[in-house]
Amino acid sequence: MTKKAQGDSDREPLAPGFRTRAIHVGGEVDPATGAVVPPIHFASTFRQPGAGQWGQYDYSRSGNPTRTALQSTLASLESEGTQHCAGALAFSTGMAAIHAVTMLLRSGDHVVAGTDIYGGAYRLLHQICDASGIRVTLVDMTDLDAVEAAIQPETKLIWGETVGNPRLTVPDLPAIANIAKRHGVMTGVDNTFGTPALMRPLSWGIDIVMHSATKYLGGHSDCLGGTLAVADRDLLDRLYFIQNATGAVLDPMSCFLVSRGLKTLDLRVREQSATAMQLATWLESHERVRTVIYPGLVSHPQSELAHRLFDQGTPNDHKRFGAMITFELDGSLETVRDACQNTRLFHLAVSLGAVESLIEQPATMSHASYAPEDRAKHGITDSLIRLSVGLENIDDLKNDLQQAFGA
Ligand SMILES: *Cc1c(COP(=O)(O)O)cnc(C)c1O
Repeated sequence: MTKKAQGDSDREPLAPGFRTRAIHVGGEVDPATGAVVPPIHFASTFRQPGAGQWGQYDYSRSGNPTRTALQSTLASLESEGTQHCAGALAFSTGMAAIHAVTMLLRSGDHVVAGTDIYGGAYRLLHQICDASGIRVTLVDMTDLDAVEAAIQPETKLIWGETVGNPRLTVPDLPAIANIAKRHGVMTGVDNTFGTPALMRPLSWGIDIVMHSATKYLGGHSDCLGGTLAVADRDLLDRLYFIQNATGAVLDPMSCFLVSRGLKTLDLRVREQSATAMQLATWLESHERVRTVIYPGLVSHPQSELAHRLFDQGTPNDHKRFGAMITFELDGSLETVRDACQNTRLFHLAVSLGAVESLIEQPATMSHASYAPEDRAKHGITDSLIRLSVGLENIDDLKNDLQQAFGA
């Protein structure tokens, strides 16, 4: 707009690519020393120019240069085409970030959330937010009619995930954003599994994008963190106010680690996804495997949608679909548990998104707190196994699974 007013050409300048922004936005050279990696600012407080006069930073809960650097990088990575991200906020954990979103709500407000949202989000909504008089309806987010039907006059937020857990469902979030806009409801999505490398939901009209930075953004299983990115300036200001008032900010060391992780995010996620695609294909043809759920396979229930929403702008034969695989091994709960326990490279652990591959059994681990009948309802069978594919050589990963299945 301003450019036009100044009489410039109509063409927007070409934005640098995703990888370039991941390295150069936010990580500006330190003017004092020329250091190409900015120093980590551990200071809790900042000297002011005068009483009642405020410098750029005053106190590290309100703002810290190392946090600003991370937030600028992330805001740039969440922007897409003409859809600019107004800004990002870095929280102490992913849960703190989701909690900040729920603090936008008031007593009597209603939330529509996906049936397969992250267990921690489910617990937050049902065992913390309920005490503030916030009501929740869970719906199958792949059923657009069900999403719309669940909206009540008091509905203020629709909360979903770009990729569900553990059955890796892919909801039509651009369509959900449209439904929400028609009803004047805010939308928030957890894009932890999708990552900004493969999915940028602000460009679909989603209002708030959340990540557990503990996972792919950090990418090395060595720090916790959570982020929010929003398209609207006023919404950013309200969330910043909540964060500053309640205090769940990300510490400088973790900000640095997540910033470092972002520099290789695209590289890691693409390589991990390529390995995951090959592993998923191999698993699908394995005699011990009953079913494989992977968004890149044509057998995935939302395969077409996944091809539309993942890695937009990349030709089909180069598209990446994330590095999470869920599959059913032939056998009882015990047989499957043994297989998970017998891997040597895949670590038996919850969490995901790091360079080392992880394996877990949802029925006994990530989703153990569900009642057995709820697990059945959500398709979390005893024989389900979830993989987070890392950066190891694919042959080593295949061999590891092969020997674990046989043991
Ligand atoms: C891990 C995770 C969270 C919670 O993040 P923390 O950093 O552990 O608080 C939320 N959503 C998803 C999808 C996750 O995997």
